[in-house]
Amino acid sequence: MHRVGGSLLSLNNDLAHPLHAFARAMPKVELHLHLEGSITPETALALARRHGATLPADDPAGLQDWFRFRDFRHFVEVYLALSDLLRAPDDFRFIVVELARELARQNVRYAEVTFTAYTHLWQGKGLTPDDLIAGLDAGRAEASERFGVELAWIIDIPRNLSFDPQTGRYTGAASDPTVEMALAWKDRGVVALGLGGYEIGAPPEPFAPAFDRARAGGLHSVPHAGEHVGPEGVWGAIRALRAERIGHGVRAIEDPELVGYLVEHQIPLELNPTSNIRLGVYPDYASHPLPRFWDAGAYVTVNSDDPPLFNTTLNQEYHALVDAFGFGVEDLERVSLNALRASFLPEARKAGLEAEFRAAFRHLRSDLGLL
Ligand SMILES: [Zn+2]
Repeated sequence: MHRVGGSLLSLNNDLAHPLHAFARAMPKVELHLHLEGSITPETALALARRHGATLPADDPAGLQDWFRFRDFRHFVEVYLALSDLLRAPDDFRFIVVELARELARQNVRYAEVTFTAYTHLWQGKGLTPDDLIAGLDAGRAEASERFGVELAWIIDIPRNLSFDPQTGRYTGAASDPTVEMALAWKDRGVVALGLGGYEIGAPPEPFAPAFDRARAGGLHSVPHAGEHVGPEGVWGAIRALRAERIGHGVRAIEDPELVGYLVEHQIPLELNPTSNIRLGVYPDYASHPLPRFWDAGAYVTVNSDDPPLFNTTLNQEYHALVDAFGFGVEDLERVSLNALRASFLPEARKAGLEAEFRAAFRHLRSDLGLL
């Protein structure tokens, strides 16, 4: 068996919490993670040095303070400032490699990473679509070679840059170029079209033509829905966009009929508990509906969204499953395998990874006395 990096060290440090140690060392898959939202303070400082840009602090601790979530407006400000630091193809390679290093540290073997390509064109930095994909390609190859982390991309439409709430009209501004890029990059790791950005005032329905085009071109449909807006956003994502997974979808819990539909059709939910708490969707873990989805038999996956901005990691999300929701070793294994099976990897690759995951789980259980 391939013993995943770092696991033995953490095992020795945490024998008192074998489930935490298991959660950290177990192989995992991440399905809901934003590339730009994965930039750490250290990486941001390195990018700022490359370009002579100034940030609100010039050391990691100070920058960590600026990163710390305050409110949604501040979150958007930080997010756009991080995006603005990406000015050359090699910057994209660099952040992908730094992300892969972190994923490997957490024993994440495969991730479908959302990239908001349009933002970088819209920010007027002089970048072309070719610049963006060149950086992503180089980073993806390096992630695999150096860290053994496989990556795929979800290219998402920033809904707020494409919808005018004043007129209630869909402008297509972000949608058309986003779909063009996603389709053009299909052989370069792109597996799906996403829909991100602020949901309020920008319902899914007007984006149906973009998703129709993407699906006709062989891409999957993975919109964010039901995060800041209630069940109607999730219904819209399912009916108008033919969503195959739902980014978030937590607020589906407010509609029993919708929960029943999600259970019946086993549409995977990409849940991000800590992100929801930081953004004020729920006040705390105790109020989070994850256990209710789980008990209802919904298809639950657990993810980290924008980890440095929400002061979390995928490992910490798994720890929260143990601490806040009482998950045991079999539950953790199911969460990890749920993510693997809900991924857009080819079936043969999924089966191969599942065999590896199960073997790793057996060894870890034995090492930790979790039989
Ligand atoms: Zn997200």
